[in-house]
Amino acid sequence: MNVLITGASRGIGRATARLAGEKHWNVGVNYVRNEDAAKSTLEEVKTAGGQAMALQGDVSREKDVLKLFNSMEKVYGAVNGLVINAGITAQRMPLADMSLDRLKKMFDTNVLGSYLCAREAARRMPQARGGNGGSIVIVSSAASRLGASNEYVDYAGSKGALDSLTLGLSKELGPLRVRVNAVRPGLIDTEIHEASGDSERAIRLGKQTPLQRAGTADEVAEAIIWLLTPASSYVTGALVDVAGGR
Ligand code: NAP
Repeated sequence: MNVLITGASRGIGRATARLAGEKHWNVGVNYVRNEDAAKSTLEEVKTAGGQAMALQGDVSREKDVLKLFNSMEKVYGAVNGLVINAGITAQRMPLADMSLDRLKKMFDTNVLGSYLCAREAARRMPQARGGNGGSIVIVSSAASRLGASNEYVDYAGSKGALDSLTLGLSKELGPLRVRVNAVRPGLIDTEIHEASGDSERAIRLGKQTPLQRAGTADEVAEAIIWLLTPASSYVTGALVDVAGGR
């Protein structure tokens, strides 16, 4: 499989890249600024048995997204797996205190960036458009159904848009042999929480979930990989919670 993973330099994207490597897949490792982290992901994929290339690009910029797909196709051929994972949070605060710049960045990265990546896959993956079919996995969040009040309702709303994208696009692309699903992680122990001003957030709040702990990036990656493979061949339009019962 030729799988392009956005935001694969760290966290959930990186864990997904490593598991894809174990399957001996060709992996496009997208990152925006952390080149060293992307390089260590490449090493992990190769050590695990896969092939990998680093793909710098900001998913909120159309020309960068086109470049990601074009560069990957040049080296490995048609992309038949896409993990739309790149995403950001921001400092905890009520909506009343959020600046326009913050809101724009949140929606540009999480919503526009994801839609641009999904659109590119919709243009390239269907056999009718010269592709080989495929599977798209969108990384949403449990926040889309919880709302993240007084933390980041903007982030929660950006993920709500991704749930809608999953439902709608799965119906557009199902007849074209492209499956579209989402995973909705809960409190996962990655560096993303540093942006909220509370790096221990996942560990602390994870204790209050039914499984009484934060999840790991690997546990989310397992679900993503399942949705990419034929093991999930009759699953499309699903929102798969990986949230410890939260
Ligand atoms: P993370 O550790 O902060 O990693 C974020 C990744 O996204 C990095 O590889 C980063 O690249 C990349 N990225 C950020 N902005 C980008 C942009 N504009 N263009 C391209 N890449 C960009 O985050 P994570 O916790 O693994 O989160 C991954 C996804 O899971 C996100 O969509 C997040 O919303 C979702 N999620 C996470 C949790 C959680 O508790 N961790 C829960 C629910 C959902 P650089 O290294 O170059 O900065």
